[in-house]
Amino acid sequence: MKSMNNVSYYKINKSKFMNWEAASKHPTAIEIETLNTGEIISKISGLLNLKNKNASKLKDGTAVVPVLAHIVRHEKYGDYLIDTGFDSSFSNEVGGNFKGLLKKVYFKNRYIQEKSEEGIEVQLKKRGINLKGVFLTHIHEHAAGVPSLPSGIPYIYGDGECETSFFPLVYSNFFENKTNLQKIDFSSAQDMPMLGKCADIFGDGSFWAVSTPGHTKGHTSYLVNGIKRKILITGDVCITKKGFELNVETGKFSSDIEEGRKSFFTIREFIKEYPSVNVVFGHETDEFKIEYK
Ligand SMILES: [Zn+2]
Repeated sequence: MKSMNNVSYYKINKSKFMNWEAASKHPTAIEIETLNTGEIISKISGLLNLKNKNASKLKDGTAVVPVLAHIVRHEKYGDYLIDTGFDSSFSNEVGGNFKGLLKKVYFKNRYIQEKSEEGIEVQLKKRGINLKGVFLTHIHEHAAGVPSLPSGIPYIYGDGECETSFFPLVYSNFFENKTNLQKIDFSSAQDMPMLGKCADIFGDGSFWAVSTPGHTKGHTSYLVNGIKRKILITGDVCITKKGFELNVETGKFSSDIEEGRKSFFTIREFIKEYPSVNVVFGHETDEFKIEYK
């Protein structure tokens, strides 16, 4: 795995809130809009750990999986993204902006952009979004829109994240022209009851990065404390709604299934305690659903 150059550490603001209970009583005008940028045809055993006893009724097979991005609109600090999904390169070419000798074979019939879905840069333009920065749950395909987004804005992700790197066969170089990469060092972040290491991104309790390693080393979930809605963006620590409901963590797509299970358990317990928080899964919402074949 290749690490990236020109990366600095994200400056973690000191929060005035010591726990979610207190923060949730002071919500902010911050909202989320989820976009679908394409689909992946995926093995179910990658999405869900079929070895978990709670998955005993599930069989392996294929699923059509939306590739999501989320616009974050903060009344005071402006518009951000959580994850980018695909850019329009995926509508022109198999494997889009991934690189490598085996790219066409590897991504054939798997990474798809139907005519009804558009790349992230097109969807942002249509909405008149003036992007201030991009937060990532992790890299993989969740950052596959980065090459079509502005160069100078901050791209922020958990320490330990790497690009896909099976050079020269299949690899990505999404941050090639980006000048402002920042990684969050959660070891210096505050401990929140139930959630563990968290960073209050704007320092006003409106938007929290939550360390949820396992799917990838630096995997990060995001918690949004809005007046209208409170939302947990899980990322791929929980890819599917089915997994959340059956209590089955992410499967073979995780680099460390055991650690992923711990992070999954953490967010599941948190939602049990605070059921009014809406959950947006790594690749599924009530609007954009996974189709199991
Ligand atoms: Zn994913």
